[in-house]
Amino acid sequence: MTSDGRQPRVAVIGAGPGGYPAAFHATELGMDVTLIDPEANPGGVCLYRGCIPSKTLLHVASLLGEAEDAADWGVTFGSPEIDLDRLRRWKDQVISKMTSGLGLLTRARRVRFVRGLARFEDARTLRIEPTDGDDAQRVEFDYAVIATGSQPAAPPGFQIDGERILDSTSALEIDDIPDTLLVVGGGYIGLELGSVYAALGTKVTVVEMETGLLPGADRDLVRPLERKLESAFAEILLSARVASLNVRTDGVDVELAGARVENPSRLFDKVLVAVGRRPNSSGLNLEAAGVESDKRGFVKVDHQRRTSAPHIFAIGDVAGEPMLAHKATYEAHVATSAMAGQAATYDAQAIPAVVFTDPEIAWCGLTEAEARESGRPHEVATFPWAASGRATTLGRNDGLTKLILEPTTERVLGVGITGRGAGELIAEGVLAVEMGARADDLRLSIHPHPTTSETLMEAAEVFFNTSPHYIARKRG
Ligand code: FAD
Ligand code: NAD
Repeated sequence: MTSDGRQPRVAVIGAGPGGYPAAFHATELGMDVTLIDPEANPGGVCLYRGCIPSKTLLHVASLLGEAEDAADWGVTFGSPEIDLDRLRRWKDQVISKMTSGLGLLTRARRVRFVRGLARFEDARTLRIEPTDGDDAQRVEFDYAVIATGSQPAAPPGFQIDGERILDSTSALEIDDIPDTLLVVGGGYIGLELGSVYAALGTKVTVVEMETGLLPGADRDLVRPLERKLESAFAEILLSARVASLNVRTDGVDVELAGARVENPSRLFDKVLVAVGRRPNSSGLNLEAAGVESDKRGFVKVDHQRRTSAPHIFAIGDVAGEPMLAHKATYEAHVATSAMAGQAATYDAQAIPAVVFTDPEIAWCGLTEAEARESGRPHEVATFPWAASGRATTLGRNDGLTKLILEPTTERVLGVGITGRGAGELIAEGVLAVEMGARADDLRLSIHPHPTTSETLMEAAEVFFNTSPHYIARKRG
């Protein structure tokens, strides 16, 4: 309650996986909540243009890959026929199932949903420009949560036109299956959407400016994926860039630069730009509310996600890296709990990262590269999936599970997994790191056989040199 006995009024700007959980949690805490977003229902980038449509298409890509692999096991399906209209409809149905479900939950929780774009007038008032033809309106608040997310970034000179030059949003529309596609950026989006197009029959070339794909991940985790993509993609060009790009009627003329690039002048049907994302903060008139942002536009926040104006919070992509949906949701709980006067703090030890390629790559907690760079004493215990019964039954020995451990306490500091379903398996690693589990805890917890989850237990066995299926020297 406020000092005059009212329910505190909370305005949540943006209804993505940061904003809608913040709104829902704030109502559970007894606040009077207005949730503002330009779409008809909550969901944000994640549901409309990100996680959910991309994973729907990646599931189809994985099915196509598995059907191809089955030829080696004596089952041939023939070549697939792709009905793009049906595929697009299926993806859109998935999105609308999820977003309309959230609309129902919003109403059930008595959150006031206002469709429009918000902008601060001052530190207590927002002006909403409607996106559904209604009149503009003002919303006054005691607390606000900025959860406006991010949008695709593009290098200077790249004009996204949605036809020849795509970003992730237009690429997810799959207007057609181009014969050739250049993907600029070998990060999450480049590899996930590149994999979708390659599975549908496009010849995909990736150009990445760093020396390896997925620069933030440990190299041993990336290697099995790199090997798979070398055959799935037409070409992977590392330490390379696009020097210039020119849209013609018959395609895009691209000039590539890089010491190892042969034939730098190439013509592609389409180009997908996937070089990162930038925060949605410039249109909010943050200065009027006394909210500070950094040079890149990320809103500055403290350990409770409070901005420089202490009654205004910022969460999700707009509040900084990692730009992941589950990190936004976690921050939503920290911010709303802090708003209610609880001793909440952002102290996650393990934010899982999952790249939903085939094989998937997942990690959490300390990476091996971070441990090495920081000089923190550590040991690494790796169990290769070549020794996993379950992986063998799936015909997918191309994986590994590794634990990064503190030598004195034998505590699990980080976990990395590459392999089919790694994104599901990493949850056990998150729990292990967050609960301060020791290698013995993983070793002595009975894992079901035959499953790839056993590889976590087996990696702990490797640490003690007791694995029944693999003998390895520990690395440190
Ligand atoms: P968003 O989801 O971006 O939502 C912000 C909302 O605020 C949007 O609806 C926006 O329209 C609205 N908004 C903006 N400005 C205003 C304003 N002024 N007034 C009112 N509303 C406003 N993350 C994962 O964890 N797993 C994945 O598999 C994954 N896959 C992805 C795939 C793709 C192709 C992309 C692009 C991203 C993916 N991400 C994934 C990242 C994930 O989508 C984001 O981290 C997540 O959506 C961030 O949530 P958010 O609530 O901060 O913002
Ligand atoms: P990213 O940061 O993951 O990858 C961008 C890549 O582009 C990097 O490897 C970078 O070195 C490279 N690059 C940058 N400029 C370049 C240039 N001029 N030429 C060639 N390469 C260049 O960014 P993204 O793939 O655009 O994804 C954005 C964010 O969205 C991710 O960081 C992640 O937070 C989120 N996301 C998450 C998932 C998931 O969780 N599975 C999926 C998609 C997106």
